[in-house]
Amino acid sequence: MCQVEEEYHGPLLREELPSVSRQCVKCKEASAAVVIRAGDAYCRGCFKEYFIHKFRAMLGKNRLIFPGEKVLLAVSGGPSSCSMLSQVQEGLSQNAHKKLRFLPGIVYIDEGGTVGQSVEHRRRTVEDLRAVFRATGFPFLMVPLEQVLDLPSSVVLSAPGAPEQEAGAYKAAVDHFLLSDGSSGATAGQQQETPPPEVQEAHTHSLQRLLGSARTLTAREELLNILRQHLLVHTARSAGYSKVMLGDSCTRLAVKLLSSISLGRGAQLAHDTGFSDSRYGDTILVRPMRDYSAKEIAYYNRMFSVPSVFTAGLDTKTADKSSIQHLTESFVIKLQADFPSTVSTIYRTSEKLQSCKGSASAGGDRCLLCVCALDTAAENASAFSATLISEQLSRTKSPGKSRQAPEWTAPASQCCSIVGGELCGNRGRGCCSSAKASEPPPLRSLLCYSCQLTIKDMSSEEVLPLYILSEAERRLRRSQLREEIRDFLLEDEADEG
Ligand SMILES: [Zn+2]
Ligand SMILES: [Zn+2]
Repeated sequence: MCQVEEEYHGPLLREELPSVSRQCVKCKEASAAVVIRAGDAYCRGCFKEYFIHKFRAMLGKNRLIFPGEKVLLAVSGGPSSCSMLSQVQEGLSQNAHKKLRFLPGIVYIDEGGTVGQSVEHRRRTVEDLRAVFRATGFPFLMVPLEQVLDLPSSVVLSAPGAPEQEAGAYKAAVDHFLLSDGSSGATAGQQQETPPPEVQEAHTHSLQRLLGSARTLTAREELLNILRQHLLVHTARSAGYSKVMLGDSCTRLAVKLLSSISLGRGAQLAHDTGFSDSRYGDTILVRPMRDYSAKEIAYYNRMFSVPSVFTAGLDTKTADKSSIQHLTESFVIKLQADFPSTVSTIYRTSEKLQSCKGSASAGGDRCLLCVCALDTAAENASAFSATLISEQLSRTKSPGKSRQAPEWTAPASQCCSIVGGELCGNRGRGCCSSAKASEPPPLRSLLCYSCQLTIKDMSSEEVLPLYILSEAERRLRRSQLREEIRDFLLEDEADEG
């Protein structure tokens, strides 16, 4: 392994250095100030124009954010989300024709408690960011991650979204906006100075116990991602925002794409890395920074003094191999250093992905944690069911059980123990009762494959926040009830086939 790592630092292609022309490739006048890719040297002015154009082009191409819509910018303090904030400011200051037309607000989630920062340390970070946000004039919310413990169960349900807009609706809305008051500098409300809610020490401890129950950093990071997203969506919903902008750069998304595959999230890739993510239904997550590389963002922030505030994360100062996500990140970044098209190649792949709108789109078959459609109803010949069979085999060691019919010949019995009663109803009849007699369906049966792996890495499921546990109970009870009355139900149309 060490040898492989050494090779990355060896003398490889260095396209960027020698062939740089000293002139800007765009205006061909000013001298170049920044080289983005090999051959693409821009002067200061052209670089700014290119950067700003890219943001508007990304929003314009996707036509998802309507004029006058309230959009919540999720700013972590890092370079990418702070750059996104400055692009929104830039866009709102343009003349009416080029102006961005939505109403922005900002949310910052204070995760200091997860890395054991002192109250004083957290207060200082919040103050630094407050100064940055105040300067924008946008309304902002400072939310400690501890609030995730008080969320309602509704956050893990996908709420019905707005009806599909017709093709011409976007243009009509823009025209209407231009006619009415395209010139006013509106934001999503007045900037108010509400002090951030007090964080109770007991809450911080519960949060730490929750994350600490994950035995690996990989699972801990996954848990944190899930909790953060729930809190973001809940904050947006309760403050009336219908879109949440995330600051993921294309470098970050390339890392996310590869690590998601390693984590068994292949089925959710389109949601996890696409421009828009509609898994929550009424609240859409969008990623307008997905065309910018981390390098471009760093150059821009430096040249145009975009402020950012460093905040430590779970993987700060840990070794490369501490988690799958961290290892993937250092792999991609090292590779990118020597092969400058690595990130863009991976990223282009993510652009082509689409979520399969299969069976689970209707109703409740969504993962309790990541709220994506369940991918566990896979066919018997899938890698997923192969994993399950080998897991079952290694669990059934007791000699008494070995006399029973071998489990691998009865595919129907696999579905029960894993997918719960709900899906079982469609398959073999005898399987359910036999599985049910031995043990109640576990919480894991409500999760997608990848979230099952995360939960498996936890020492206890009981430390999960109440809103997750009570929703789990509700779903398990419902599927149990359905199982009990199954014989009295009229068959669904789906069952007839
Ligand atoms: Zn130029
Ligand atoms: Zn999941």
